[in-house]
Amino acid sequence: MTTSASPSTAQPSLFAPVEIGRLTLPNRIVMGSMHTGLEDADDPSRLIAFYRERVLGGVGLIITGGYAPNLAGRLDAHGVVLGAGSDLDRHRAITTAVHADGGLIAAQVLHAGRYGSHDLAVAPTDDVSPLTRRAPHALSSAEVDATVDDIVAAVRAAEVAGYDAVEIMGSEGYLINQFLAPRTNARTDEWGGDAARRRRFAVEVVRRSRATSPGFPLIFRISLADLVDEGQTWSEVLDLAAELEDAGASAFNTGIGWHESRVPTVPTQVPRGAWLSWTAALRAAVSIPVCASNRINTPEAAEQVVRDGVADLVSMARPLLADPDFARKTRSGRPDLVNVCIACNQACLDHAFVGAPVSCLVNPRAGHETDLVLGPTSRSRTVAVVGAGPAGLSAAVTAASRGHRVTLFERAPHLGGQFRLAMTIPGKSDFRDSLAYFEAQLSEHGVEVAVGTEATAALLADFDHVVLATGVRPRVPDIEGVHLAGVMTYADLLSGASQAGRRVAVIGAGGVGVDVCHWLTHREEPTGDWLARWGVAARSGRRGDLAPSILPPTAAREVTLFQRRTTPIGSGLGKTTGWAHRSVLAQYGVTQVTGAAYRAIERSDDDMVLRYVTEGHERELVVDSVVLCTGQESVRDLRPGDPSQGWHVIGGADVAAELDAERAIAQGTRLAAVL
Ligand code: NAP
Ligand code: SF4
Repeated sequence: MTTSASPSTAQPSLFAPVEIGRLTLPNRIVMGSMHTGLEDADDPSRLIAFYRERVLGGVGLIITGGYAPNLAGRLDAHGVVLGAGSDLDRHRAITTAVHADGGLIAAQVLHAGRYGSHDLAVAPTDDVSPLTRRAPHALSSAEVDATVDDIVAAVRAAEVAGYDAVEIMGSEGYLINQFLAPRTNARTDEWGGDAARRRRFAVEVVRRSRATSPGFPLIFRISLADLVDEGQTWSEVLDLAAELEDAGASAFNTGIGWHESRVPTVPTQVPRGAWLSWTAALRAAVSIPVCASNRINTPEAAEQVVRDGVADLVSMARPLLADPDFARKTRSGRPDLVNVCIACNQACLDHAFVGAPVSCLVNPRAGHETDLVLGPTSRSRTVAVVGAGPAGLSAAVTAASRGHRVTLFERAPHLGGQFRLAMTIPGKSDFRDSLAYFEAQLSEHGVEVAVGTEATAALLADFDHVVLATGVRPRVPDIEGVHLAGVMTYADLLSGASQAGRRVAVIGAGGVGVDVCHWLTHREEPTGDWLARWGVAARSGRRGDLAPSILPPTAAREVTLFQRRTTPIGSGLGKTTGWAHRSVLAQYGVTQVTGAAYRAIERSDDDMVLRYVTEGHERELVVDSVVLCTGQESVRDLRPGDPSQGWHVIGGADVAAELDAERAIAQGTRLAAVL
């Protein structure tokens, strides 16, 4: 069977030119600012390669990662400063390369304020930063004034270095935002005390920048909802927008939530477009262009934002990591070929959080444009890929795109492997789009797809290369009673092969166990209910747009989650998403048991009893079902042949422990790059 792609029409609204001040963008697609880690390298060649690929992919405007206007404003001690006296040669190399390929690029100026994790960090007051756990230096009135001038000098330096525009970072809880909110600005001088004086820092930055760089397009990234206690009110946001427009801002980009907010704003569990009503409300109140951002990840969603008049432009950061050709594919009527960002944060924000170079789970080339080259092969070979999970799909697509003749075997009646299970988890439907992308690519590159087919040694004998990507199967732990009816693996549950009752014990609290708890307890909810569940009161007049309390959801089941370790549940989850997963468990009232030693699972009439020990005491829990989320084991039903004879093993079939899609896709892509 060969899967069929379904090309659809181009997205016309996205590709209408738009003006930001004197600058005309060829389309409405903006690559939002991301700190990739490449900005701080001495040699800008990898950063240039990263940008060039996106320019050639047709993006309307690139916004760089944030550059600090002075030493105090750096995110960390390694950050690069863009300002008066900076060496602009590296910036000129960037702007020259982008312009040579016909692209446009804006520099982002970001003063981290109390989010700077170094000894020179400053802020409106010396309150300890919840992110860095350090107390910043409280700026004196004169130092505030000098900081404004440093930001203005950075704007001017960006202009001199050949950038087409600048974005001034005023959201996400960085310094400018810190001045705007009573939460972080308790000053009583001319930079604080009431809303007008709290606004003064932001407005002075724009007013003085406009005076120093008269025709230079100034984009201000404004925080539409701080989502923190004592954040701005919506009317304060609107007052700020009006003053910034008067002061000379050319456009608004939009941010939602501070980094310290306890409301998730970008991970996959956030409904797509959840924040667009704020963007539309701002656009209705101002006359300069407004750019939407956060949780817009497909061509169709981006087109709808512009077509419906929600915003003039759409900023996408992670989707442009996932696919540098997002714009070109969309414009040519092939949005089905766009590699969709699944909002997992795993290879991008989670890496950035620990200072590791940023890449992308679904596109391992992101940030590796110079060392992971996928050019056409000089010798087309026959390649059999066995297993159509993330590892096998990426190997098959990459090998075929390089000109190999690929056959993909899959024992199950459908493609996807673990992706197919993941996409059933509430808030992970983006995996469905990712799978659709792989299907379209298989078809595009002529991969012969044989689903429902057991690959035997005889079937594989004549291929030049055989790639075993047979994946994993759930580990069944050695607990007495584990084979009783009513005990099921997560795969049986999520695939629909087994059904869970009302009271459920989940054994194993890794990523899958936590996801399964969400699956078991969740009920379908509209976006409004999702916002209420997180305590968001949209433009209600309340500070930070936060309600006085959250509206707890009604759990669909009574769930108890067990693990043997005594560490807090979920502590091994993603750096930027783990806290939100843990919050979901709390919202749905999932009982958590750590340090458990399992004794037995028994049947008692219609009930099941899980016997276990914690803190030296024998205990029991009466449930209807037990779900095993106790890790995985490699599937190697086919014995791999000799690597020198062209046999390769990748993904979970290679190593099951701590397997995730990031490793699987990277391994599949990297292998296919050298076949
Ligand atoms: P995992 O992270 O290895 O967790 C399996 C859990 O089962 C362990 O935490 C272990 O905890 C328990 N366990 C293992 N062997 C056991 C045994 N013999 N008896 C009883 N308990 C046992 O595996 P996973 O949850 O299946 O996740 C697989 C991979 O996917 C991981 O790399 C994970 O990070 C990733 N993933 C991440 C997410 C996310 O971030 N949201 C979601 C899904 C998957 P104790 O030993 O403490 O009991
Ligand atoms: Fe998107 Fe995940 Fe890639 Fe980040 S790592 S860009 S969230 S798919």
